[in-house]
Amino acid sequence: MNGALIELVDIRKVYQMGVSEVNALDGVSLRIERGEYVAIMGPSGSGKSTLMNIVGCLDTPTSGSYKLRGTEIRDRDDDELARIRNQEVGFIFQTFNLLSRADALHNVELPMIYAGRPKNDRRARAKEMLDLVGLGDRTHHRPNELSGGQRQRVAIARALVNEPSIVLADEPTGNLDSKTGIEIMALLDQVHLNGNTVILVTHEEDIAAHAERVVRLRDGKIESDKATGRASSRDSRIAASAAARGSAPAAPAPTAPATPES
Ligand code: ADP
Ligand code: MG
Repeated sequence: MNGALIELVDIRKVYQMGVSEVNALDGVSLRIERGEYVAIMGPSGSGKSTLMNIVGCLDTPTSGSYKLRGTEIRDRDDDELARIRNQEVGFIFQTFNLLSRADALHNVELPMIYAGRPKNDRRARAKEMLDLVGLGDRTHHRPNELSGGQRQRVAIARALVNEPSIVLADEPTGNLDSKTGIEIMALLDQVHLNGNTVILVTHEEDIAAHAERVVRLRDGKIESDKATGRASSRDSRIAASAAARGSAPAAPAPTAPATPES
């Protein structure tokens, strides 16, 4: 594949609030390669969620170009955007956003229902994903019968179930106590080491330190874009995680340069 996984060029998002305009994103250009682990930081109101929603095709920019795997998103119609959201993007939200009347298994199955996967196949896959996040014994619990950390695990299983190109997590530990937050971050680290591209929004420096790159927003603009101390140790962490699971190291995901070009 040529080019970046995600390529944003001069993205603007303007919200009309009565007579005044809010420049939620004010000319953001950003390239993210396959396999990167990026934290988006910045003060409240700096445009982090707006950026995530555009990258996840939940929202469209007012102007600018967004290419996902080389496809110009501006040119896609609603059906195509729905397909992209379902198959290319896994979302993890601060508030979990699970279906309250459905059990854990059904919540994880849902994206596969939209994708048209056959029922038996779906069930098996949902069970496998719940096992992976450590909830194999909670398949028939509804969200209100699970702790916050368990709910977020269900949401992570749901986000991964269609093998998306990007995993987007908007303050995934924001509603969790710090111990549970650490467990959820260990799981997200594992998701990254398995070869996924992860983009994470957080207010907290110690959460952002899990990523290999930190992009800071201020007033809808990129203020800085830097590699973290973790960027150079990915291969050794992949090897350590494979060893911990008692298997030979898997082929590493195509690696991206630690420092972005733009
Ligand atoms: P962050 O996630 O960094 O806190 P947001 O991306 O949610 O920031 O918001 C960026 C700016 O855009 C804020 O000033 C916010 O008030 C404004 N904004 C976000 N969503 C809307 C909306 N739907 N309508 C109007 N203004 C909005
Ligand atoms: Mg936000």
